[in-house]
Amino acid sequence: MAAGPEHRSAAPRRPVLAAAQSRLSAQNVEVRRSARRSRTVSAYREDGRTIVLIPARMTAAEEKRWVERMLDRLDARESRPVRGDEELSARACELSRKYLGGRAEPRSVRWVTNQNTRWGSCTPSERTIRLSHRLQGMPDYVVDYVLLHELAHLLEPDHGSRFWALLDAYPRTERARGYLEGVVAARLPSPRESH
Ligand SMILES: [Zn+2]
Repeated sequence: MAAGPEHRSAAPRRPVLAAAQSRLSAQNVEVRRSARRSRTVSAYREDGRTIVLIPARMTAAEEKRWVERMLDRLDARESRPVRGDEELSARACELSRKYLGGRAEPRSVRWVTNQNTRWGSCTPSERTIRLSHRLQGMPDYVVDYVLLHELAHLLEPDHGSRFWALLDAYPRTERARGYLEGVVAARLPSPRESH
């Protein structure tokens, strides 16, 4: 074998690396060496594969360490809450336009972590809406329901028939309320229905 010291297959595969190896194959990792790269390493996901770009001069040990590190970074990035405040605001606009004729115009919409007895709340006089971070990780239609619920409160502060009529157009109100009731039943003490 006319391999230099960096030839990867020259190193015997030891059992201790099995976990790392299976992680690489599970994530379908492709390492691309580039002579033009001198120091930087980058990674991205594409069509179910993870591409890691590394400098051509890296040793096998460095490659392994960097691939692990980049997989950790990608995993961390992807497990962050689906929606930041900006995305939440955009979603609120979309829901208002779609179901409330665009009449609900919140000044701010944001996630809060200090709201454990309510799923959402709104202050109509200030046109502000807050959603509990506990909704993060729940299905989109549930988050949408709570958001739409609070948006509707900008138009109707109370839970009267006019309020519920505003939510009529949203096809998953009952299902979302059922989901939240299920969560409440499963974890006491519980948040109330929003607002
Ligand atoms: Zn309410």
